[in-house]
Amino acid sequence: MKKYINQMDMKQANAADIFALIRKSRRITRKEIEAKTGFSWGAVSTIASLLIEKNYIRELKCEQPKGAGRAPSYLEVNTTDHFVLGVDINISGFKSVLVNLQNEIVGNNFYKATYSDKDSLLSEIIKFIKETMTLADSKNIIGIGVAMQGLVDAKNGISVSIPHCKDWSNVPLSYIISKEFDLPVFIEHDPDCILYAVSTEQIYKNAILLRVDKGIGMSVLSGGKIFGKPGMFEIGHTIAVPNGMLCSCGKQGCLEAYASMSGMATLAGCRFDELVQKVKSGDKKSQEIFYDMAKYLAVALLNASHMLCISRIVLCGDMWQYKDLFYDAFLNSLKEIDSKNSLEFSFIDVENAATGAALIAIEHAIKYIDFRKEDES
Ligand SMILES: [Zn+2]
Repeated sequence: MKKYINQMDMKQANAADIFALIRKSRRITRKEIEAKTGFSWGAVSTIASLLIEKNYIRELKCEQPKGAGRAPSYLEVNTTDHFVLGVDINISGFKSVLVNLQNEIVGNNFYKATYSDKDSLLSEIIKFIKETMTLADSKNIIGIGVAMQGLVDAKNGISVSIPHCKDWSNVPLSYIISKEFDLPVFIEHDPDCILYAVSTEQIYKNAILLRVDKGIGMSVLSGGKIFGKPGMFEIGHTIAVPNGMLCSCGKQGCLEAYASMSGMATLAGCRFDELVQKVKSGDKKSQEIFYDMAKYLAVALLNASHMLCISRIVLCGDMWQYKDLFYDAFLNSLKEIDSKNSLEFSFIDVENAATGAALIAIEHAIKYIDFRKEDES
């Protein structure tokens, strides 16, 4: 049966497709668009003119040697008029980046969080986004991406839980932020955002990402795509020590209770920075806490690698700032436990959580752009 699609919807969809192709190609001629999409020359020309008029793309005249005929002109994304905001909400603080529609970072912001409950966290998030929006000045923001710690239902825009904020439960975060700023908002689990940023640079197709700071998060890239669903790969809450220390999640003996910065501080009975000083001054008990952390992380990563058949491990998070204190012990533990292990490590900056959230938001937000002419809307 034939499906009848509204002519305007079709034009909108075609414009979105052509804009996506220009973003992906970085620089492309109208002729190449015609060949790649199968659209008519007339349709490509009309849509290109509309995108230029709305400042989503610009035209680049190219120089041509004399006598070689008319110089072709290229189309590329206009990088100065439209932006997406990426925000990383984490226990230690909030970070944000402003990204143009060619995925380039053009500004950033940081906020040291002080929240203690749901209401204060929500108001700090809104305040922080407002502040970052003013940095963008009059620039046109088309969407917001949020990298969220804890359990996230990305499909429904819900932040399910955060271990360190007890009354935070099933918060419709996308809806709340969207209502406040009248923009489309997309949330994702923070390790997924970091891995998404890695995947867009096409560094690896398969990788396990492990974020270690006040908590422990994991994400999996399989065949170039983020793999899994909410609640999967919560490696921080797998058991390291049966019936061991109480974890922030309420269970006993979780990896996070022994190998995260907050867990280690609890074990040491002091702040994490004090623990670091004690290790540096040769305190044996403090050194043991670090050695144990290295061993538990090694076991958890070997198990994860065996289960997923992925040997590339991408490490990130504040813990790795102190890797001089434990990285050798960590590598030795890996060798002692499995001398034939083939794990390969690389490090990535957590700034990428905000960037990844922005890149995810761009992919979604361009579907919401109104590409119609003013008199058609
Ligand atoms: Zn736990």
